[in-house]
Amino acid sequence: MSSNTAPLAQIAPRDKAEILAQALPYIRKYHGKTMVIKYGGNAMTDPALQAAFAEDVVMLKLVGINPVVVHGGGPQIETLLQRLGKKGEFIQGMRVTDPETMEVVEWVLAGEVQQDIVGLINRAGGKAVGLTGRDGGMIRARKLRMLDQKDPSVEHDVGQVGDIVSIDPSVVKALQDDAFIPVVSPIGFGEHNESYNINADVVAAKLATTLQAEKLLMLTNIPGVLDKQGKLFTELSMRRIDELCQDGTISGGMIPKIAGALDAAKSGVNAVHIIDGRVPHALLLEILGDQPFGTMIRSH
Ligand code: ADP
Ligand code: MG
Repeated sequence: MSSNTAPLAQIAPRDKAEILAQALPYIRKYHGKTMVIKYGGNAMTDPALQAAFAEDVVMLKLVGINPVVVHGGGPQIETLLQRLGKKGEFIQGMRVTDPETMEVVEWVLAGEVQQDIVGLINRAGGKAVGLTGRDGGMIRARKLRMLDQKDPSVEHDVGQVGDIVSIDPSVVKALQDDAFIPVVSPIGFGEHNESYNINADVVAAKLATTLQAEKLLMLTNIPGVLDKQGKLFTELSMRRIDELCQDGTISGGMIPKIAGALDAAKSGVNAVHIIDGRVPHALLLEILGDQPFGTMIRSH
């Protein structure tokens, strides 16, 4: 149980029953559906939030929804790079990945971070299985050709950052048809078996599209997409997103996130939300709540 259960103990059993009963329409609506969850940011480093996240994922699985977790690991990669005396560099939200950085990315994501998440979910009563994009030949990639956002005649070399060529979701499907919860590290493989570091938002979005997921939920370290004054957009259309990218309101890590979110929304994922992973039980709040939470991305 998470650390914030104390006040719940004071809720009368009758009210608890009422609260649970109110979840029924949502459970019925989403039963048997797939939800892809991008797990990143602070929600991944705070122990109480980690525990609440794991509980939510297990809860979804137990009520018949199929959660698929895709994780990032920016802060953890940064920590190890610093210990090795390297400094992370980003261009348009993508980590510049030289061969040494690629090794670190693989150690951290496919090792420590993935296994931590698997352990957390299992401790909460689930059966998580960790995968990278290599497993089951899931994520084929090639070197990303990154054009400058403002001047497309300029190309940036970001090293071994991958662009997804195709996703074979069969391993994820096999696992989720069973009792398992797939936990995917965003690493792809190329034509010559070389590794690629792929932004986790991009992987989550593409996987959601390939699986024709009902929902894509991106947990981050901010309330959602903010305007220049720091006010939250509760929803965003494609046109507005274009404008916000052009005028620099959307920058850094929000660029691949919003691009992935929009792609998924346009490709048949019914609901795409960027939500605040710093809020305990953010997943259940979004799925079961009827208040707007975070930013919803519209397909048009
Ligand atoms: P993660 O992928 O782990 O969720 P990122 O750091 O990659 O985190 O992306 C989220 C970050 O994007 C935010 O913390 C914020 O600094 C940055 N960002 C840039 N523009 C915006 C914006 N308009 N609204 C919200 N966040 C933004
Ligand atoms: Mg990011």
